[in-house]
Amino acid sequence: MKKIIQSILLSFIVIPTFAQETPFLNDDEIRMLINELSGDRSFEHVRVLTQWHRNSGMEGYFKAADYVVEEAKKAGLVDVKFIEQPLGGPNYTAKSAELWMTEPVEIKLADIGDHALMLSDGSHDADVTAELVWAGTGSKADLEGLDVAGKIVLVNASPGAAVNNAVYAKGALGVVCYTSSESKNQMDFPDQLAWTRISMNVPDGKEGTFAFNLSPRKGEQLRKVLETNGMQDIFATGKKTKGGKIVLKAKVDTEIGEAPGRTGFVEGWIRGSKYHDQQIMITAHLQEEQGSANDDGSGCGNLLEIARTLNKLIEEGKIERPLRDIRFWWTDEIYSEYRYFRDYPEEPSKMLANLHQDMVGAKQSIGSRTQHLIYSPHSITTYLDALFESVGQFVIETNNPFITAGRMGGLPRPHSRPIYATRGTREGFGARFVPFFNASDNLNFIEGAIGVPAVGLINWDDYYIHSSDDDLWQIDATQLQRNAFIITSMAYYLGKAEEDQTNLLISETYAQGNKRLANDLQAAFHQIESQQDQALAYKNASIIIEQGLLRESRALISVTDVVGNSDNVLKKVAIVNERLRTKKAILQNDIDDYYKFKNNTKRTPKIALSKAEELASKKVVKNNPVLDEYFGKRRGGVSGVQIHSTMRMEVFNFVDGKRSYYDIYKAVLAESLAAGTWYYGTVTLDAVVKLLDANVASGALMLMN
Ligand SMILES: [Zn+2]
Repeated sequence: MKKIIQSILLSFIVIPTFAQETPFLNDDEIRMLINELSGDRSFEHVRVLTQWHRNSGMEGYFKAADYVVEEAKKAGLVDVKFIEQPLGGPNYTAKSAELWMTEPVEIKLADIGDHALMLSDGSHDADVTAELVWAGTGSKADLEGLDVAGKIVLVNASPGAAVNNAVYAKGALGVVCYTSSESKNQMDFPDQLAWTRISMNVPDGKEGTFAFNLSPRKGEQLRKVLETNGMQDIFATGKKTKGGKIVLKAKVDTEIGEAPGRTGFVEGWIRGSKYHDQQIMITAHLQEEQGSANDDGSGCGNLLEIARTLNKLIEEGKIERPLRDIRFWWTDEIYSEYRYFRDYPEEPSKMLANLHQDMVGAKQSIGSRTQHLIYSPHSITTYLDALFESVGQFVIETNNPFITAGRMGGLPRPHSRPIYATRGTREGFGARFVPFFNASDNLNFIEGAIGVPAVGLINWDDYYIHSSDDDLWQIDATQLQRNAFIITSMAYYLGKAEEDQTNLLISETYAQGNKRLANDLQAAFHQIESQQDQALAYKNASIIIEQGLLRESRALISVTDVVGNSDNVLKKVAIVNERLRTKKAILQNDIDDYYKFKNNTKRTPKIALSKAEELASKKVVKNNPVLDEYFGKRRGGVSGVQIHSTMRMEVFNFVDGKRSYYDIYKAVLAESLAAGTWYYGTVTLDAVVKLLDANVASGALMLMN
């Protein structure tokens, strides 16, 4: 530590100069956005939203949407409206529900006035008093030989199995369950209420049923009372009673409408001054369980704050009105976009990019959570990833402690350019960039048939998601503000970028591409290092390099989406593209040499196609041109096909009417190997062929030849 102290003293003679930390914003712009954006304001929106149990189509969902409509108007957005969409099932809202133990002692076990998750969604009306019996997990095996008719069953599992096996098959009246959300160990979160649901559909001739949902602690206590034959006071009521028998009284009042019901999403705009077919789409999702402070109250609150900030800065004349439209969507997650694109297939072509936030408010010291910054997948790697990385990296570097930065005089500790909310923490920004995964609304935009590049912010792992613990106590206004800064910076830059940004966008995309190519090279080396079959290793390595260069070429051309395609722009793109061609030969030489070193040989193997590969290279596919039919007919689950869901999506995304099955396989294989099989699993030609064939058969895809 001595050395550090010495250099701190020396540092007083160093005059701090701040180079541009991200070339996409100048120093004044960074200061301006940090000054105006308020994680505290976002937090207040989250606070309001958390009160409603707001899954799709529920009364709470519409109340949340009404709130967002009003606040979006106050934030200065124009043409704010709720865009109604059909809901597959009926609208559902639980009005009241109570569960009491009446014997051996009176205890109120559940009341949805305390928390909505105490009743499983989909429950029907009830007013019953009955004995409680332990039924394990509610599986058929656990119910064998058990008389549950006229009783309520207690299960340590999600309630679905018990509803079918105990209620509808064996005449039980209802279910009390205790479980965990997202397959967590219940012992880690004994007081957490998981978000559970049962099917609203009732088999013919049966009456609808209900399920109450308790914390693991309460569930275990009930089980113990059932198992104890002597005197007990397991619930600590102050009254000793005989165990072994429990009688419950359940009262449930719900409203179930007719199917199809209604849902929808909220839209608002900042109208641009020049371009109206290059919209910047800023999204978050509105539906989820009561609470849902982080997932995705955080994103919804940030959208309102981003809208307010940009509009205030425009009004004050601190920034120009953007040239492009900025369009805000608070969605019914994933569903809203698919439905909207199918209903308005001409709309995606008016969208330039999607900036998505889902879970952007984690107090990271609680639950060891990391903010993931998610790139677009390889099928749509563009300039957007370069912009995202530059701005995101800036926030990561200036909001985490580094000894070297701290040694310079004049800088505050621990962070060199902190973004702190007034009521937030001073914790670091635990964030990292990760390859694409398909878990939230950004997935809609990167669909091959939609073609809009998208980046997303999602924190993970999250011990509180989809449970009663996703509430205000684990939200940090500071992290809200940092994530809002990243999205606002990008929207602000994209809002004004024109041909004058050509050099910057090309150079940053090219430089970032070189990082991706370095990663490709490493992955190619690892093939040669690790594969038994060296001919296969060499082939895979060559595919990784070939596909990497194709990806970078596409990324480079994507710059024209922002800066246009004047002769001047195209000339520059062509020059850099030529550089990529040279690079390909160099990278191929690298793997050739490595292969030769490893195998102690002077030659590399000739790459030959197997019979299956040859067949696959003769089939070229395109999407069904009618978007509604394409999505309607697409089949994800195909028997015999084992493939990671994100890679399955990429198989579809690479379909373009020019690529053969084999080309698509190569592209997805290269992407999976570049990230690692631990991330995306294994991709086989067989899986790709079967998946594509099944979708040709369904009519989602069409063969070109
Ligand atoms: Zn979410």
